[in-house]
Amino acid sequence: MNLSTPVGEIPRIGPQTQKKLKRLGVETVGELLFHFPHRYEDYSDIVPISKVETGKTVCVQGIVKQIKNIRIFKRRMVITEALLSDDSGSLRVTWFNQPYLINTLKPGDFVFLVGKMTSKNARRYLSSPAYEKIPAQFVESMKNGEKYDSVHTGRIVPVYPETEGLSSRWLRFVIKPILTKIKNEITETLPEEIRKKNDLLPVKKAIWQIHFPDTLAMAESAKKRFVFEELFDLSLVILREKIKLAKEKATVVPLDLKLIKKFVASLPYKLTIDQKKAGWQILKDLEKPRPMNRLLDGDVGSGKTVVALIPVLNAVKAGFQVAFMAPTEILAKQHFKTVKNFLREFKIKIGLITGKENFLDGKKIKRKEITDKTKKGEIDILIGTHAIIQEKVEFKKLGLVIIDEQHRFGIDQRAKLCQKQKFLPHLLSMSATPIPRTLALTIYGDLDLSLIKEMPKGRKKIITKIVLPEKRKAAYDFIRNEVKSGRQVFVICPRIESPQKNPDLEMNEMAVSWLDVKAVKQEFRKLKKEVFPDLRVDMLHGKMKTEEKEKVIKSFGNRKTDILVSTSVIEVGIDFPNATIMMIEGADKFGLAQLHQFRGRVGRGEHQSYCFLFSEFPSNPRLRAMVASQDGFELAEKDLKLRGPGDLTGQRQWGIPDFVMASLKDITLVEKTRNAAKEILQNDPELKKYPELREKLARFQKRIHLE
Ligand code: ADP
Ligand code: MG
Repeated sequence: MNLSTPVGEIPRIGPQTQKKLKRLGVETVGELLFHFPHRYEDYSDIVPISKVETGKTVCVQGIVKQIKNIRIFKRRMVITEALLSDDSGSLRVTWFNQPYLINTLKPGDFVFLVGKMTSKNARRYLSSPAYEKIPAQFVESMKNGEKYDSVHTGRIVPVYPETEGLSSRWLRFVIKPILTKIKNEITETLPEEIRKKNDLLPVKKAIWQIHFPDTLAMAESAKKRFVFEELFDLSLVILREKIKLAKEKATVVPLDLKLIKKFVASLPYKLTIDQKKAGWQILKDLEKPRPMNRLLDGDVGSGKTVVALIPVLNAVKAGFQVAFMAPTEILAKQHFKTVKNFLREFKIKIGLITGKENFLDGKKIKRKEITDKTKKGEIDILIGTHAIIQEKVEFKKLGLVIIDEQHRFGIDQRAKLCQKQKFLPHLLSMSATPIPRTLALTIYGDLDLSLIKEMPKGRKKIITKIVLPEKRKAAYDFIRNEVKSGRQVFVICPRIESPQKNPDLEMNEMAVSWLDVKAVKQEFRKLKKEVFPDLRVDMLHGKMKTEEKEKVIKSFGNRKTDILVSTSVIEVGIDFPNATIMMIEGADKFGLAQLHQFRGRVGRGEHQSYCFLFSEFPSNPRLRAMVASQDGFELAEKDLKLRGPGDLTGQRQWGIPDFVMASLKDITLVEKTRNAAKEILQNDPELKKYPELREKLARFQKRIHLE
């Protein structure tokens, strides 16, 4: 067994478990070992039975004196009762609905137990404790003062992020023997001088201590090492991209000031100062002989599209082609319409290419025709989905690439767009994800940044309210009124279907609160049949086929639907100015960024808009932040303080672990790792001295999908 052995080859892991692990991103032994606990329970103090206090969670050790099952037919329940003794006394132990325990724990067994001492109806008992049996051969040596190397009890115990069907107990049980077996296979990839200078544990020690720490302080040191390493690797990857890009050449696109002035004057509104600044920065970049790599970041509705059109027009009139990519077909079509409309007077050939349809100017045309024309340079602006890259569309003279709603775009992908050209095109990406400064420093360290912080004038504030359960009816009445006056409504629910009740989870409060969460299908039926039988209610969720989804969205766009019940799929930037109410069920279950994105779906037209946050927890800090502010950047900073940046920036897109994302709060640490990376690259830009590190970075780059 080594680090790259598939987890399926571990003795106790079958196909079912393998699937669950895959959901955690764990496919190899190495990835399993790098699945870290997110907290610890300290059960290292073993309390004599006579000293156990009611209400406390404790670890005890002793001999099982009796154990039996008691059936309670009325409540359909089995209680397993045991008596545990040590030198100081005895206590009663109770488990609920785990009858099989009597096959595992037998009278005479020596065990560790961890549980809460409970008192109910004058009975005191240790309630549903975790247990660990000590093998008979160890019991003797323990009496002589030797310490038994336990896994779940009698020590500081790791608690792993909760996943369906993979308990911390199971993970400990699997991880510990593997760690013992292959500890020596784990090689150090942090350069020694960096490790020493920053006082970090060596990897072999750290990996052991992060799972099974001797002390909480050791766990902390271990974590510090891995956080440092992850940020260090990330900085290296990004700095190397920057160095690589700086060596590339791009074509100079001369600035045509008269043309730009004419365009700006043709707009139906005045640009905001931030829009003008951003446009200017981009135009200046295009004049340089090295490829622009700029991110245009501005809140939902801040008017990024029109800013992008400034360099687009300039590049086209200077004789270059432009590729304009959007993440979805709906968005690509929306852009096609907008761009055509805004550039009407400038006589520009605009094409649209998507998975299904292709248009040139107003007419539907064949795929082949559009790719041919692009190749010959007869299309100036090609708008489309990722199809542009996948179909290997060839351009004659590609000068600029615009990417909407995607955070990053790698050099290699950019190169793919223009394989036959001598020069790289300039690149502008646009994102509505507000970025806190520390994050910008790391993740976007190689990008230049233009920010639009100011919203266009005249936008109405979206009235945002937390709605408690007792106000639900009033909210429904309000919604009915809005619909009667012609408006449309979104209802967002946190999940697709009501979960099956899982008996194992019933004891768990978290699980109980999730069982109450509104499910789309159920809510859709309720609204359609009971609450709004007279209105047109429709449903949208991620498990629907693309065509079904499009149909639903189209019908909503054509105002044939009044109320759209949806999961979070509605997030991606669609523009329905007639929708004025965003109603979010179980609002406390969503992250602040998501809530803010949802709210951005309304308030796009002339009508007053509303965002209703349904929740039983009016003091939830995220909900309060939503009520208090509508500024995406302000919310971003707040979210960073509340829980780390993961949620806000859609970390899933990057695959950076939670605990590392949380550390991005720490600007000194971020700067330290960045400086360390610079130091290494200065002396050895190709990382010749660190072959293992170089290999690891290649893997790392794949994992964090920066491209
Ligand atoms: P986003 O930044 O979310 O992509 P859009 O580019 O879709 O935003 O712009 C949102 C709306 O605001 C569009 O209808 C656009 O025409 C309009 N808009 C953009 N800039 C201004 C402005 N300076 N004044 C008024 N409206 C504007
Ligand atoms: Mg947009």
